[in-house]
Amino acid sequence: MEQQIREYVQTLLKMKAVKGFFGTHVQKQTNAPIEQVQKVLVQMVEEGLLTKQYELLCNKHNCMTVLDKQTSLERLSSFYDCELCGEETENVNPTILLRFLIPPK
Ligand SMILES: [Zn+2]
Repeated sequence: MEQQIREYVQTLLKMKAVKGFFGTHVQKQTNAPIEQVQKVLVQMVEEGLLTKQYELLCNKHNCMTVLDKQTSLERLSSFYDCELCGEETENVNPTILLRFLIPPK
């Protein structure tokens, strides 16, 4: 299963149009459990094949505006004002997504 995940990600790495993806995408394509997908993707980050990007999204009424993007969770602040709905993130329980980016060759 791990090999299957790696092979699928390798095909993504070869596609010029693909700049990044979420673990759930790989999960859907490989039918592997999400925990295993995340584990393999994190290994591939450590191997330098991918980089991580945490994205903080406004959660107010499914606004889903991206408020910030950082390479580590610690770098995300807990205070943002959403430009679209004007809400402050401390009130909206923001969503944090982990995107895997393909480094430029
Ligand atoms: Zn918003």
